[in-house]
Amino acid sequence: AELAALDAEISGCRRCPRLVAWREEVAATKRAAFRDEVYWGRPVPGFGAADARILILGLAPAAHGGNRTGRIFTGDRSGDVLFAALHRAGLANQPTSVSRDDGLQLADVRIAAAVRCAPPDNKPTPVERDTCAPWLHREVTLLRPTLRVVIALGAFAWAAWWPTLSTVYGVKPPVPRPRFGHGAVFLPEGGAGSSERGPALLGSYHVSQQNTFTGRLTPAMLDDVLSQARHLAGL
Ligand code: SF4
Repeated sequence: AELAALDAEISGCRRCPRLVAWREEVAATKRAAFRDEVYWGRPVPGFGAADARILILGLAPAAHGGNRTGRIFTGDRSGDVLFAALHRAGLANQPTSVSRDDGLQLADVRIAAAVRCAPPDNKPTPVERDTCAPWLHREVTLLRPTLRVVIALGAFAWAAWWPTLSTVYGVKPPVPRPRFGHGAVFLPEGGAGSSERGPALLGSYHVSQQNTFTGRLTPAMLDDVLSQARHLAGL
């Protein structure tokens, strides 16, 4: 219930003028293929289990994906790749994700974006990243009792994790910060993620079309990351 209240609060946020203008402009002009749809046009909250052990952290909603459907990674090519992989891993009840009411349910997994509004060119500014960070901190605070693993999709999400670790867990991130890479792992002291020391952090290339179409990120590579996450989460 607390998570649902947070989701509702996030959905009404207007803190970033540039992103508010962009998300609403995209929702008003639409892409031709979706011209009969009512776009969400608001911040996209997290989605998935309230008792998640694994948090998948993305960059920001896609203009005609999450910004259209109102659910993160829903209705775009990145989501097609991600949810198919979650289904193969036994973490989603179906391989597809087309709309907010398509029956999709995640087990043990929550998905959120570091920036909750669709940015022009998929590029939020550092100020927008910092402005949106408190929402992530509050979401992670609610997930903390069960959360064991964070999968950062891309370098932006990887970088967004460190302030969350210090704000929510009171854990000082290492200096210099561990570098992002596909397969990069940061384990808290003691090795396994816990509600006191913080979750394990796994790096994965983002499921963007740019990565999946070029074969930089293959389904098998994503399966390996999810399998490692399951293992670290004790699933
Ligand atoms: Fe609010 Fe985050 Fe959207 Fe900025 S990006 S308007 S902080 S929800």
